[in-house]
Parts: sequence; C-alpha cells; structure tokens
Amino acid sequence: MSKKRIVIVGSGPGGYVAAIRAAQLGAEVTVIEKDVIGGTCLNYGCIPTKTLLASAELFNAVNDAKAFGIYVGEVRADLQKIMERKGKVIQGLGDGIRKTFEKRKVRFINGTGTVISPTRIRVASVSGVEEVDASTVIIATGSNPATLPFVDVEKPAVLTSTDVLELDKLPQTILIIGGGAIGLEFACFFNALGTKVTVVEVMDYILPGGDKRISKQMTQNLKKKGVKILVKTGVEAVLSYGDEDVTCLLSNGEEITTEKILVSVGRIANSKGLGLEDVGVALDERQNIIVNDSMETSVAGIYAVGDVAGGILLAHVASAEGIIAVENALGNPTKMDYSVIPTCVYTFPEVASVGQTTDEARASAREIKTGWFPFSACGKAAAIGQAIGSVQLVVEAGSEKILGGHIIGPHATELIHEIALAIRWGITAEELSATIHAHPTLSESLMETAHSVYKQAIHIL
Ligand code: FAD
Repeated sequence: MSKKRIVIVGSGPGGYVAAIRAAQLGAEVTVIEKDVIGGTCLNYGCIPTKTLLASAELFNAVNDAKAFGIYVGEVRADLQKIMERKGKVIQGLGDGIRKTFEKRKVRFINGTGTVISPTRIRVASVSGVEEVDASTVIIATGSNPATLPFVDVEKPAVLTSTDVLELDKLPQTILIIGGGAIGLEFACFFNALGTKVTVVEVMDYILPGGDKRISKQMTQNLKKKGVKILVKTGVEAVLSYGDEDVTCLLSNGEEITTEKILVSVGRIANSKGLGLEDVGVALDERQNIIVNDSMETSVAGIYAVGDVAGGILLAHVASAEGIIAVENALGNPTKMDYSVIPTCVYTFPEVASVGQTTDEARASAREIKTGWFPFSACGKAAAIGQAIGSVQLVVEAGSEKILGGHIIGPHATELIHEIALAIRWGITAEELSATIHAHPTLSESLMETAHSVYKQAIHIL
C-alpha cells in the first residue's frame, strides 16, 4: 500500500509537531514554511519572550543578592547582549527541529503555500513555483498581532510584540495597550530593566478571563514595583507621533506621552490569501478556520490546527491539535479535548491556571469547596526569598474531584501540572492531600492546599 502523503502549511508548534507525529506513524510528510522554522512560538513568541524574561529575572536576582548575603559589583543590563542570547536560543532550538525533520525524512520547503485543491498545494519559493500532491492537507499558518485602527504601526514609536524582540535600546517610558498575558510579560521585562511602564486594560481587571483573586494580587504586586496599571481604560486616539515619543489620549481623558507604545491587543488568524475560500473551507466572522473536534475543516481531507483555527491561542494547544489532526488523517479517529489546558503567564511572580475558576464552577451549578494556601507559609518559598502568592483549588463537593487550580507565585508555571494531572485522571482532593510531598519544596503547597479544603492544612490556621 502506498504511503499517505501529508502536506502541512506552517512550521509552528501546530505544524512541526503534526509533521513529526505523522512521520512516526509512517506517512510521507512535507512541511511548507514561508518564514523561519518553528513559527511564532519559536521565533517571535514563547521562546524569545521567556529568554528575555530569564535575563530580567536574573537582573532582579542579582539586584536582590545583598538580601542573601551575596555582594556583587555594578549591575548593568546590556540589551544588545540580551537580544544576542535570545537569537542563539532560537537558533539552537530551530536547528533541533531541522535535524529531527531530516532524521524522520520530513521534507521541508521554504516557500509560501497556497491551497489549490484538497489534494494539491502550490508553493512559491526563491527557486520558483512547484505543486505538491497530498492525501491530507493540514493548515497550521498561525496568527499575526492584531492592531488598533487608529494606531499607525509603521511609526517607529509604535511596537508590536514582534518589534520588541528587535529593540536595540531600552525605552525610558512605555505605554502597553492590553493587560493580557503578553502585555504583562513585557511589562515585567521592561520594569525589571528600569523602563517606566504604564499598562492600560479596557476590561475591569488585568489578565481578563482568569481568576479574579489572582488578577488582584498581580495588580498589587506590579503596582508595588512601580508599574502604573489603569483598568477600564483604553486608548481612544493617538494625538501625535514625534521622532522620540508618542502622545495618546486615554478614555479617562488623560493624555500620556511615552517613548514607545506596545500594542498587545490580541491576535488575528492567518487564514487569508491561502486559497481557502476558493476550495470551500469555511471561516468564522473573526477569520478563524472552522473545524470539528477531529480538527477537520468544512472540506474533507483539509484539517486546520493551532492559532489559525481560533479557540485557545497557545503553543501546547496547537501541538495537541496537530497530533489529533494527524491521528484522524491516518485512520485513528480521536477527538480534541479542551477540558484540561494549563494556561501560564511568565510574569514576576508567575501565574498558572487549569480547569475551572470558582465562578465558572458555581455557574455550572455544582456545589463546590475551595482550598487556599499562601506561599508565605511554605518553607521552601521562604528559603528562596519568594514567599509571595498562593495556591487555590476548586473541588466538587461530594465527589471531591478537583475541578480547577490557580497559582500565583514562584514556579507556578511548573507546579500547575500536578493539578492538571489530578484533574485529567480524576484524582480527588483527598487523594492529593494523602500523597506525601517532599520537604522543603514548593510542591508541598499543593498538598497543603488540598488539606485546606478539609480545614486541615498544617501550616496555616
Ligand atoms: P505559528 O507558531 O504562528 O506558526 C505558523 C507558521 O505558519 C509561521 O511560521 C508562518 O510563517 C507560517 N505560514 C503562514 N502562512 C503561510 C503560508 N501561506 N505558507 C507557508 N507558511 C506559512 N503560547 C504559549 O503556549 N506559551 C507562551 O508562553 C506564549 N508566549 C507568547 C508570546 C508572544 C509574544 C506571542 C506573540 C505568542 C505567544 N504564545 C505563547 C502563543 C503561541 O506562540 C502560539 O499560540 C503558537 O505559536 C501557535 O502555533 P501555530 O503552529 O498555530 O502557529
């Protein structure tokens, strides 16, 4: 029997993970990428931002070293060196994907793909135009930064998240439009390195959609560090673009002049110009490709995964969807399950959530119990000088199943996976509390939170 030919357009975490899984399952795989391997995640998103944040975190740590009995000389941040390191990290990880493709015999074409039919893709590259046959097509073309109609992103004072990654000089002041994950991560980066940061958010709390208690703690923490946060406030107009600054009018009537503004107001699916409408692939009103729970579009044999299919715009969701699309394309029917998706924000301190918030659990008419434990009562958090934040658990009364977990504090983005595992496999709060956790660890706080559901936490009253 001839091998299935899977052609994937886009090499981000949706596309490249789908490619590797398809190759593992014996398909003949081609990946078409118009830019660099790895997509937004590797080149303009997850990895570069976390690399910059690692520099900022180290800068903070060195500045705080005296409190640990460590004395260092002058501490200085060199943005160009920070950016150079970021470039090396991206290069190394990109090489890793390239080598895996080679080893798995995945064909990589650097060119722009257009869908001509469910079984044929046209690729335009520097070496000309070619057409590639496919038994299955997977669209994994990702998304681009959304902008505001009245903001001219071509002006040097205006930055998107992608532009920030190429800055060669730290601005003295920055206005960040949007208090979501990306906006706040950049707020922490700039704040740590000495830029005066203002964040405006149109909703009534930052990190909208997340747990409100965490948002409140994050607001207090950022304010303490000198970040100005204005909620229920938007930018209404840009009043002037100067050579060295930009002046905006806020919805509260205030005029604010800063050296740069960063527009981080969401992402737009990259679904236009791919020939999708011509072959009948349906899009929703936000340009997202409509898919079913097998990740198949309205046209049989064409799948879509990742940001281009809307929903939860995260790298690990794109990868999970990529695997589901491949499994289905290769004859193993399986459905995408969005019930347990950890969401992480790499701010200082970090934030991580999985499952339902208390509001969501109550709205679904469940009777719930909650547990809470502060890192101020955790020995390891004190030892590492990061006794800030807390853990919350949302538990279904009766079944005692864990419905949600929400953490703000040190290494929250790592700790959350214990709760994700518990929710995914139906582990109860009692079972979590009965699992011995090593001392001293931050993970003990999860066990203590589970104890606190039954008013039996050891280290809090
Ligand atoms: P992408 O990664 O966007 O890849 C799509 C690829 O398709 C691109 O390389 C593009 O060039 C290519 N392409 C598009 N059109 C064509 C065409 N016609 N022909 C050929 N190639 C084409 N998510 C997290 O989970 N954790 C994080 O910490 C995180 N941080 C982020 C920080 C920032 C600043 C940003 C912007 C995003 C962040 N994200 C994060 C989101 C994450 O990057 C995306 O959800 C993820 O990259 C989506 O993967 P994807 O495969 O769908 O698309």
